[in-house]
Amino acid sequence: MKEFSKIPGIGESIFAVMSRMAVENNAINLSQGFPDFSLDTALIELVHKYMLAGNNQYAPMPGVLPLREAICDKISALYGSSYSPAEEVTITAGATQALYTVISTFIRPGDEVIIFEPAYDSYVPSVIANGGIPVPVILRYPDFAIPWDEVKDKITANTRMIIINSPHNPTGVVYSEEDYNQLAALVNGKNIVVMSDEVYEHLVFDELKHTSLLSFKEKIPNSVTVFSFGKVFHATGWKVGYIIANSMLTTEIRKIHQFTVFAVNTPVQFAYAEYLKNQEHYLSLNSFFENKRNQFNNLLSPSKYHLIPSKGTYFQLLDYSALSNLPDYTFSEILTKKFKVATIPLSAFYSTPPEQTLIRICFAKTENTIINGAQKLLTASEEFSLST
Ligand code: PMP
Ligand code: GLN
Repeated sequence: MKEFSKIPGIGESIFAVMSRMAVENNAINLSQGFPDFSLDTALIELVHKYMLAGNNQYAPMPGVLPLREAICDKISALYGSSYSPAEEVTITAGATQALYTVISTFIRPGDEVIIFEPAYDSYVPSVIANGGIPVPVILRYPDFAIPWDEVKDKITANTRMIIINSPHNPTGVVYSEEDYNQLAALVNGKNIVVMSDEVYEHLVFDELKHTSLLSFKEKIPNSVTVFSFGKVFHATGWKVGYIIANSMLTTEIRKIHQFTVFAVNTPVQFAYAEYLKNQEHYLSLNSFFENKRNQFNNLLSPSKYHLIPSKGTYFQLLDYSALSNLPDYTFSEILTKKFKVATIPLSAFYSTPPEQTLIRICFAKTENTIINGAQKLLTASEEFSLST
């Protein structure tokens, strides 16, 4: 159907491909990013409560007010910035819809969008579907630092947006305040929207602190920040997220939002509004996931995988160059089909993948899954070592 496709070069998402392969092969699924443990039953009970109380019809287009208020309170407490619930918060059907809506709002045919690669897989197709031109800037292995000089060189009169993601999926890098200062200097005085994807804001390890674009509202006035409750409350299937932007930008974003989803699941929004009031519900996540990262890394330390330290998110990169020089898709396929553990080949996160031997695993898993998944990766490491 090439004649009708707006994104002809794009196939099925790697997350769908690998999760299906995991199921078909009865493999432990460390590929797609979602927890395999249940969420807090108190949160489920809250949804139930609001459903029984009759909150089952359309929510207001920007989201229910108590949730927008709770979000602004949280932002003010964590990042010291004040935002208006009425004019600067929009509740979305997850971060993926938020990202698409923001891109669709601001990107016109021919507009250039700077995207740091490896990048979450929805950015590039969303830009192309809206007639924009993705301009990749490669984050280089092993530290995946942002090469700000290259970013500067890639900014043109057509640059309309820069997308930044921290903590970063898939590398686990947490970008610093200095990175945001560099960004601020580059966009100063230009008509460039900065969109920051912060869905992993509460998954930051080793005493590091999350720097949010929300703290840069003066330095970067055209800023849009995207969040997801799916990652924060272990509920990826509920698909609720939000967008924070100043009122001028929000007005434009809501014009598109109202004609894509109009409004988002009502009882879940009320439940989140109440659940957010207890800071422990999200401030405990750093140590919760840090322990899981440490457990996974300890189990794999006797292997020949080189583990790239993850400072945030619930992902971990493994370099398998000491085991094989097979392309990462092939290596992931063998891991899934033969060794029964599914991972994500890093090539999936690039427009033009560099030559490298990296796979991503997700450690948002029960202790049992981590032990079993690590065991299968260890078996693969031993067998590959014997055959080389
Ligand atoms: N951005 C990043 C970096 C992600 O890893 C994900 C996956 N959760 C999303 C956005 C999408 O989030 P959601 O599931 O809320 O659509
Ligand atoms: N964010 C998740 C990941 O990176 C997957 C989201 C999805 O499946 N679309 O694995």
